[in-house]
Amino acid sequence: MGYLKQLDVDNFKSWRGKQVIGPFKRFNCIIGTNGSGKSNVMDALGFVMGERASNLRVKHTRELIHGAHIGKPVSKTASVTMRYCDDDDEELNFCRTVSGDSSEYYIKGKHVTLAKYTGELEKIGIVVKARNCLVYQGAVESIAMKNAKERTRMFERISNSLELADEYEKKRAA
Ligand code: ATP
Ligand code: MG
Repeated sequence: MGYLKQLDVDNFKSWRGKQVIGPFKRFNCIIGTNGSGKSNVMDALGFVMGERASNLRVKHTRELIHGAHIGKPVSKTASVTMRYCDDDDEELNFCRTVSGDSSEYYIKGKHVTLAKYTGELEKIGIVVKARNCLVYQGAVESIAMKNAKERTRMFERISNSLELADEYEKKRAA
């Protein structure tokens, strides 16, 4: 199974300039005092996976630039690069940059459309809109509180099997 190897951040949220988060192992634990930036690691991951601003605890992507939260952005741009090792131990490199409120996407340094970017992420099982990989602060409780029907819906969305549900029901009834 593939795994996240490293995140390279550049002026993203609490990281000033170019910094490296990682290298990660297959199982990782992030500890730190309140406000030290643990959730910002999740935001960096969500950002590079194409999440929209509202899921990254800001209204506008420009607020993700270091210093912008106090009205003093240190740069016009910020970026996060995700280094991901696939099953064959080959490194895949996904990068998202933000400039003002517009984002650009790169795979292995090559500029691509958002559709191409999300398509390539889906190939390695990351379907951000299905919320299949990121469980943010507070979400554990909300998942635990779901009833059976809601939880089934969630797994159907995650596994991309929702589109096959009707066909499945028909065959089951036949
Ligand atoms: P908790 O334990 O309370 O959940 P945490 O470790 O998850 O805390 P975060 O929410 O990740 O903490 O980080 C909050 C910190 O990030 C704050 O100190 C805030 O000032 C800083 N921060 C947020 N946005 C920016 C930004 N654009 N530039 C610089 N720092 C930022
Ligand atoms: Mg937090």
